[in-house]
Parts: sequence; C-alpha cells; structure tokens
Amino acid sequence: MLEALRDPYAVWISETMLQQTQVATVKDYFVRWMKRFPDLDSLAKANEAEVFKFWQGLGYYNRAKNILKTAKIVAPQMPDSRKELEALPGIGAYTAGAILSLAFHKNEAILDGNLVRIFSRFYALDFLPDSAIHKEIYWDKARLVACGEKAFLRNEALMELGRNVCKVKNPACEKCPLKSKCFAFQNNLIEKFPPKKDRVYKHWYGVIFVVQSADKKFFITENSEFFLKNQKVFPHFPIGETEARGIPARVDTFLNGLEVTDFFYGKDINHSITHFKISMRTLFLNVAQNAPKNSSWIAKKELKDLPSSLCKKVLNALKI
Ligand code: SF4
Repeated sequence: MLEALRDPYAVWISETMLQQTQVATVKDYFVRWMKRFPDLDSLAKANEAEVFKFWQGLGYYNRAKNILKTAKIVAPQMPDSRKELEALPGIGAYTAGAILSLAFHKNEAILDGNLVRIFSRFYALDFLPDSAIHKEIYWDKARLVACGEKAFLRNEALMELGRNVCKVKNPACEKCPLKSKCFAFQNNLIEKFPPKKDRVYKHWYGVIFVVQSADKKFFITENSEFFLKNQKVFPHFPIGETEARGIPARVDTFLNGLEVTDFFYGKDINHSITHFKISMRTLFLNVAQNAPKNSSWIAKKELKDLPSSLCKKVLNALKI
C-alpha cells in the first residue's frame, strides 16, 4: 500500500476518499477501488454508474463524479503543477498539495484536518481556517513546513502525527516530538485547541416515494431540487408534518398523467446529509400503465445499485 501511495493517481484517490473520513473507514474502499481502477486509463474508460458502485457508502457523490470527470480530462497521467491540478474538477488546494508533495516530492504545502489540529495546538491558533484571513494564517504555517530539503517527508510526518499522536481526543502528548514547543501542551490547554465548530443542522421533513409501473419498472429522478442533486434517487419533496397520509398533490408532477391504482406508506426514516437532519415518510405507489421508455424507469434488479444509502433505507422501509 505504501508503494501505491507514491503513485500520483493513488494519492489523489486516497486523499479524496479521506476528506472528512477516517483511514480505517476508507482502507477497504481504497483497496477495492484500486483493484477495479488501477490507473487513470482504466478509470477514464469507466462510466458513472460503475464509479458510483465502487464509491457507494462513502457519501459525497459529487466527489466521485468529479474524479471521473478529471480522469477523462487528464488520462493517461496526472499533471504535476498546482495551477493545472487546481483547474481540474474536484481538486482543491489541499488535494493538489497532497499530490505534489506526497507523489511528486515537490515543496508544496498541505493543509488537511490533521495539520489544522496540530497547528492550532502548537501555535495556539484559537480559530479555524473558515474565513479567507484565517485560512491564509493556517496556509502560512503549512508553507513553513514545506520549505527546504525533503519537505515531503515533513508533510507526511505531520499527517501521520495528526492521525496517530495528535488525535482529536486524548492526544498522546508524552510521546510527541513537538511537545517541548507546543503551546497547548505546555499550558495544559489541549481541550481549548482547535476551537469547536458550531454545527447547525436544519431539520427537513418530507416524503420520498417509489413508483412501480404495470411492467414492474421503478421511477427514479436525477433532478432533485433538494438532496442528492444530479444523482439517481427516488423522488422526494417537503410536506407539512401534520399532513394526512394520502397521496400528496405534488406526486402528480412526477407522474406525467400516469394513473395511481393503489398506494401504501412504509416506515418513516431518518437520514443526515451535510447540514440537514432529514425525516421522511416513505410511500409506495402502483400505476396502471407500463413505464415510458426512458432512463427514468429502471428494473427491480437495478435498485440495489442506486448509490445513495438513503435509497437503501427507503427500500428497507417499504420492504422492496
Ligand atoms: S504535544 Fe500534544 S497537542 Fe502538541 S502537537 Fe504534540 S500531540 Fe499535539
């Protein structure tokens, strides 16, 4: 695995998977992905459905979409300059830095969550990099690390330190090589750094529904106004929490004149997406007509390939 991580393509995939996720979660996904798409060429030839299948469970499907777009642009090889990398879909300053430093061994700064935590504690930065000014202060610290000979080793060492020593909870300060100069450790203020992020969740209440045609096809949409935009998902929209459990009028806008013969509600489900806590009623409808011949109607066996875990919950709730 270590050798593979020197490959710019592998660094890109692993770092994209690791955004907001732990190594332990990502490891199996990464191994499976690299078996199926060992290089840029194999990925560039894949289609979106297949890529989603290997991303399934990681969430943030736009990342998988962007990975595929970028592979199609750059195959057979990754560019090796920050300017070119940051111009590609889904590659930001952090990922570009990781590819350039870890794979190409260039003196390029990296700033991931691990480094943010170390810098905050070490330099007593009592803010997060969530405004332009604060971001720049953190990037300045990262650029200091990326100066001089073998900067890539320092970047990698700090990332490892963040993962294994300067952890979010209970950092192992006693065995940390930075402890003699670390402000938080020296002042017994580790709990204060970095400051906690206020996560404000919005509550969303609605209905998500599965429509089955007479010839046993199922309706899916890729034009959701609400969640999982641009990916295949069952149609859904908000409703009032006290609304009666009939067929909501807005269902008609999806059915294009198809006639409902019967319906039932399944178990309600809860789901979280980024800043939303979602509660949904699940509704199943049969319609009298065969499915129109278009890609919005899929066979039952394809339902299990829908990428979002939200769809899996709906299928369970409706016992499909
Ligand atoms: S001394 Fe502790 S808080 Fe400071 S960098 Fe090391 S592990 Fe982190």
